[in-house]
Amino acid sequence: MTARLIDGKALAAQVRAQVAERVQALKAHGITPGLAVVLVGDDPASQVYVRNKAAACEAAGMLSRTVTLAADTPEGELLDLLEALNTDASIHGILVQLPLPGHIDTGRVIAGIDATKDVDGFHVANAGLLLTGRPRFLPCTPYGIMKMLESEGVPLWGTEAVVVGASNIVGKPMALLLLAAGATVTICNSKTRDLAAQTRRADVLIVATGRPGMITGDMLKPGAVVIDVGINRLEDGRLAGDVDFETAVPVASAITPVPGGVGPMTIAMLLVNTVEAAERQLSA
Ligand code: NDP
Repeated sequence: MTARLIDGKALAAQVRAQVAERVQALKAHGITPGLAVVLVGDDPASQVYVRNKAAACEAAGMLSRTVTLAADTPEGELLDLLEALNTDASIHGILVQLPLPGHIDTGRVIAGIDATKDVDGFHVANAGLLLTGRPRFLPCTPYGIMKMLESEGVPLWGTEAVVVGASNIVGKPMALLLLAAGATVTICNSKTRDLAAQTRRADVLIVATGRPGMITGDMLKPGAVVIDVGINRLEDGRLAGDVDFETAVPVASAITPVPGGVGPMTIAMLLVNTVEAAERQLSA
């Protein structure tokens, strides 16, 4: 078997085109959806992510505002900025790029974002809504993965789904969405005793650990659908996922490449959440 590639770039382009149409419809009502992205510090990877998000936003016809703060910005100053953005009517979505410098409490900062503008879906109010089956904003990466699975026609109802990685931004919300779609879900973390025994049961395997190449072909069930969330910069400068692509391709039935898989979908779903926030303002 040779796995077919799931083209996240192509699907993201479709989603972005749909968003651009929704933006035009809102503009006809005098509303331009606006996204504020806040970056604290000068981490090069974060700078790239923020630039990409701002560019995607502008390409869809939205207003994009990037605020860059020095790495030693006091937490209180960041919270004041968020308060100003919360009450700014031209801003419908607010995102604080993570990770934040060590002296800043990430939880307090996310709590400082108005939950109705929390387009990353990380606020505890939005996490709680997702947990209880009444989601307002879905976290962008798991949301994008669900879109990919849907677009590929991957059945989830009654299937075995395994999520490797249990972070608040990827693994946990991913597991909740798969559960809601009718899958039987296992979540693994760094303490999982026999990881391969878990992953080999997966009809659908989602990997989000930040450990390059940790899932190899022999850890897969033949015919599994493999979604690789990892983005790891190797010493030679190349980007690699958490799945060992070469050994996985002969075993899986479908797999996402890195780059060009989950990454573009994450940005596309950020735009979806932002346009949705603006549409809610119109219907409020
Ligand atoms: P975190 O570091 O927050 O979480 C990693 C998770 O993986 C933890 O739950 C950890 O377990 C688990 N883990 C680590 N090592 C192992 C192991 N050997 N076996 C099983 N589980 C393990 O990472 P994120 O969720 O933020 O990100 C994961 C990856 O996804 C990174 O490469 C990141 O760059 C990428 N990413 C990509 C995005 C995209 O758009 N494509 C978006 C967001 C992230 P424990 O809980 O026990 O510590």
